[in-house]
Amino acid sequence: MASKCVKFLLSLLRAVPVIFVTTIVVWSYYAYTIQLCLFNVENLAEKILYLIFYHLILFFFSWSFWVTVFTPVAVPPFEYNLSSSDVVTRELLGSTAERKKIINNFGKSLGVQCRLVTGDVRFCEKCNAIKPDRAHHCSVCGKCILKLDHHCPWVNNCVCFSNYKFFLLFLVYGLLYCLYIFSTSFKYFIIFWEVGVASTISSNMGNLHVVFLFFISAMFFISITVLLSYHVYLVVLNRSTIESYQTPMFANGLKDEHAFNLGYKANFYEIFGKNPKLWFLPVFSRLD
Ligand SMILES: [Zn+2]
Ligand SMILES: [Zn+2]
Repeated sequence: MASKCVKFLLSLLRAVPVIFVTTIVVWSYYAYTIQLCLFNVENLAEKILYLIFYHLILFFFSWSFWVTVFTPVAVPPFEYNLSSSDVVTRELLGSTAERKKIINNFGKSLGVQCRLVTGDVRFCEKCNAIKPDRAHHCSVCGKCILKLDHHCPWVNNCVCFSNYKFFLLFLVYGLLYCLYIFSTSFKYFIIFWEVGVASTISSNMGNLHVVFLFFISAMFFISITVLLSYHVYLVVLNRSTIESYQTPMFANGLKDEHAFNLGYKANFYEIFGKNPKLWFLPVFSRLD
């Protein structure tokens, strides 16, 4: 019972960053549509155009975000699980050396290429399973994940094989969302600045939202730009965040940081697929 309560509290705690992002977006919606567009933008055509494009970007941004949050993580196939084989389980009762030999033979029969520095097949003690190439154990999710990039607290999910494209689109639309708000509120921020921000706010408290909107969009724009640039670099080289810190080791006893690099075009297709119509939509289109 107590462990169930702790688990429930931990899951609530892990949802806090997602709630934080949602709250910021909901507030920015109010600040942009009501305080900026409705109360400050005087030209009707400008007001309508601002709102149309804003809602369009917000739609794609929210869609990518929720799909990244709720896409189930990709786990290794059942065949990689040692306990699935009665024969292996019985043999595991033997000595450590014997156990290691069984694991290595089992891994080789599955065709895995990645190895530990010791030359052994990678095995997860927690999942009692062989780790497929590029898979890693996530301590937050408590399971091995295929092509694990990292566990992202902002989406409360692993960024991995099943949702990497959605995560990248979340960054792209997030960047666009901030850039759009920043550039369309810039003119009004300058007007407030020239009049005097303090007197503008004291004459209308609502303008405080517009001032904050300008600064927060600029702040998020800078941080998303840094993160997205890094992931573009990883996509071009077909590398995960984990692999960029920990070069994978192979059966030939050599480390190879370019082992999965198929050339930038093929690397892109691997994540986004070959149909350009689906590239900008958070739907599964990658090559399996
Ligand atoms: Zn595991
Ligand atoms: Zn995870």
